[in-house]
Amino acid sequence: MKRFYIWESIIVWIIIIFISAFWSVSQVYRSQGKIYLDNGRSLFNLIVTTREWNSRLGGVYAPISDKIQSNPYLDLSDRDITTIKGEKLTLVNPAYMTRLIAELAKERDRVNFHITSLKPIRPANAPEAWEAIALKTFEKGREQEYVEYFNDGKTLFFRYMAPLVTQQSCLRCHEKQGYKVGDIRGGISVSFPAIFSAPWVIIISHILFAIFGSIVIFKYGSKLNNAMQVLENLSILDGLTGIFNRRYFDEEITREFLYSKRNKHPLSIAICDIDNFKLYNDTYGHLAGDECLKAVAQTLRSALKRPGDFVARYGGEEFSIVLPHTGTEGALVIGDLLRTNIESLRLPHKSSQVSNYVTVSIGITTYSGDDISLKSLLNFADKSLYTAKSKGKNRVEYITATVE
Ligand code: GH3
Ligand code: MG
Ligand code: MG
Repeated sequence: MKRFYIWESIIVWIIIIFISAFWSVSQVYRSQGKIYLDNGRSLFNLIVTTREWNSRLGGVYAPISDKIQSNPYLDLSDRDITTIKGEKLTLVNPAYMTRLIAELAKERDRVNFHITSLKPIRPANAPEAWEAIALKTFEKGREQEYVEYFNDGKTLFFRYMAPLVTQQSCLRCHEKQGYKVGDIRGGISVSFPAIFSAPWVIIISHILFAIFGSIVIFKYGSKLNNAMQVLENLSILDGLTGIFNRRYFDEEITREFLYSKRNKHPLSIAICDIDNFKLYNDTYGHLAGDECLKAVAQTLRSALKRPGDFVARYGGEEFSIVLPHTGTEGALVIGDLLRTNIESLRLPHKSSQVSNYVTVSIGITTYSGDDISLKSLLNFADKSLYTAKSKGKNRVEYITATVE
């Protein structure tokens, strides 16, 4: 029977939802990552701008204090000066300023700036392993930006690094290192905490979609299957008696006949006709006739025990019984059983010419591998029924199916 595959559909639905959820969540994470990248770029650019401002001024003087001491790596004669008021000032160059800003940023926002170079003047500015790889990549001109996520054991950090390119104003101090305008002198890495919050709205809405969709598929799939079952029953069952109809019989007998022919298995057919049924209707009425037909049909059906055997309503008050893998002897036993079972129902039939009760006549024939057609096999069954009727009804007759 054709049916709607409920569980398969639910699995497909859940897979679709899962793919959609996975894609949506990864898009959210990707856009969160993009925000961190933009953030890293902005911080880097801001620090570069500040450095350039300082560099263009040739450094700025600041009062010497606990926090600001003379920069020992700054080899300039005018590094430390004293104002006419006697205040001691020291020159804060871009590198020193970056370090001071970095200390402040770290304290305030957990943002780390690290100015570094493969040839550092100040040893503490030597690169970490990751920074060294980034700097080498910049020098080879392959990348202009380098990013990573790392975990300090407690927090996930995003780190952004880009090169520092030598400008004219840098040469005042860095020319002696051999740098020219445009050379990569080092880089600044910027790192800050990266918090990836799970997009719960997307996850929960997808779970709800999966559940809701599955319920809908299950509910309407079951309804559809029931409807298909009803349709199938309508197409193969007889409306009055509930047993198989003529259409089903025609399809099945064709299949069984071909199967028997191919495999040389015997196949018996019995046609069962209620005796004097017209008189039954005339006596008890058409509705009672219907009830009688139902009772006969159910009795015939419940007498057939072997899987494969079946009874169908063949015509008005005629029933055909198909007995696959059954030879003459077996068919006669079944035929007699059916006849006596109907008689034993003791359904009153006072106008019957053969009994006081409803009886049937049965004609049987058996296909046993001869080269005959299905049509002539059915004709033999009809003929044997005719014989049963003409021999006085309420009996079983048999004719061997032979090539005519
Ligand atoms: P015989 O013993 O030779 O078989 O005689 P019979 O009266 O049974 O046969 P006949 O073919 O003359 O009549 C069959 C009757 O079956 C005629 C028809 O009214 C009745 N019949 C056919 N289908 C139905 C049905 O669905 N319901 C009822 N109540 N009667 C039906
Ligand atoms: Mg008839
Ligand atoms: Mg009849």
